[in-house]
Amino acid sequence: MSYDKSNIFAKILRGEIPCDRVYEDDWALAFRDIEPQAPVHVLVIPKGPYASSDDFAARATGEEIIGFFRAVGRVARDLGVVGSGYRILSNCGPDAHQEVMHFHVHIFAGKDLGRMIKPVDK
Ligand code: AMP
Repeated sequence: MSYDKSNIFAKILRGEIPCDRVYEDDWALAFRDIEPQAPVHVLVIPKGPYASSDDFAARATGEEIIGFFRAVGRVARDLGVVGSGYRILSNCGPDAHQEVMHFHVHIFAGKDLGRMIKPVDK
């Protein structure tokens, strides 16, 4: 999958559109989701041009991968949700309804989030 620089998260990274930032370092930017689906709903994105989780895993350097996942953990701690619990999730491709083609991890928290996924009818 090729990376399209016109996606909305790339524009946020370039400062072309605003975001409600909660954390930033050399490897990652975290900001609140514009349509929150939980009391706490934050997105963490790597600074590099990666379209999805598998693209990030294949092409990012070890430093980028470590930096990104350290940022995800740091954001969860800073949000104060480690004790109560939280969920990280990344949608990849059509069946997962990925809307923005820049790799991102959702952090959901702030209430009982229920089971991971609805059971499949057998
Ligand atoms: P998905 O690609 O399906 O994992 O979801 C993309 C997420 O990005 C959705 O939860 C949107 O509400 C969120 N989103 C889209 N545009 C913005 C924006 N400008 N600022 C913050 N969140 C956004």
